[in-house]
Amino acid sequence: MKFLLDTCLAATSPPLDDEDDDRTTTIKDHPVPTRITVLVDDRAVFPGLAVEHGLALWVEHEGHKLLFDTGASGHALLANAAALRIRVEEAEAICLSHGHFDHTGGLGVLAPRMGGVDVYAHPDAFVAKYAKSPSGWHARGMALSQSQLEAAGIFARLSRDAQEVVPGVFLTGEVPRDPRFVPSTPHLCADSPMGRIIDPFHDDQALVLRARDGLAVVCGCAHSGVINLCRAAQKLMNPRHLVGQSRLRAVLGGFHLGDASPQLVAATIEGFRELLPTAIHPLHCTGEAATRALVLALPDRCHPIGTGSVVEF
Ligand SMILES: [Zn+2]
Ligand SMILES: [Zn+2]
Repeated sequence: MKFLLDTCLAATSPPLDDEDDDRTTTIKDHPVPTRITVLVDDRAVFPGLAVEHGLALWVEHEGHKLLFDTGASGHALLANAAALRIRVEEAEAICLSHGHFDHTGGLGVLAPRMGGVDVYAHPDAFVAKYAKSPSGWHARGMALSQSQLEAAGIFARLSRDAQEVVPGVFLTGEVPRDPRFVPSTPHLCADSPMGRIIDPFHDDQALVLRARDGLAVVCGCAHSGVINLCRAAQKLMNPRHLVGQSRLRAVLGGFHLGDASPQLVAATIEGFRELLPTAIHPLHCTGEAATRALVLALPDRCHPIGTGSVVEF
């Protein structure tokens, strides 16, 4: 089977600084490429792979293997993993971008196979979530409660702040939000002590890791705004603002621009022009129109991918 392999693009940022701290390591420490395989997405780039509305990514970094989100059903994930010869049982951890069903629904199928693995998430990922439509309320949150997961042998490691999942790989936790970059989704709600409210998506977070020549930021739905997630990832991984240590090598995932206003799409493009990631890989809920706009605005950097794609950096 052939895979789409991300081509290495020319770096445009200054060379890495040699100075180290606990979160900043240099290029020479990472001889092995980081590899991310798209296990589940809304579209496939190769025939024969299962697609569904959801996201699941297989992350290999420095000898560690992680699952980032689980798709909606778990069945697409397992079928595609088998086709791509990936053994999900080898995952050291499952990381959840947020609590929506299309990112967490696979846990029910995975739990019996992956007992003993920890799930890393924000505590609000377990809050009941809904979508409002003219026909009423529709559940959109996690199918399993925390206690059901733990009964299946999956322990939940919950934090509102950043967590280190394996050495050098972090979840951002809650991120500061510049409202110019935040998608407006008044139909997406969540239960709270004040009743049912528009979901504040405190649980939305990104995975960030230091690859050979820069940071990789991996989003689920980017309800916080992909630019806000990138900025938070840079701050997390380079708290001392060392020269060259905030360079973005890759940004991938759902950017939640499917029904975004032209202003939000334009602001996101401007945000990417300032951040200048070497590669941008829209997936899942980015939306066709916004993806086209990103490719047109950043043709050397933006490369859409889908189920079966492999990116290395
Ligand atoms: Zn989603
Ligand atoms: Zn979502």
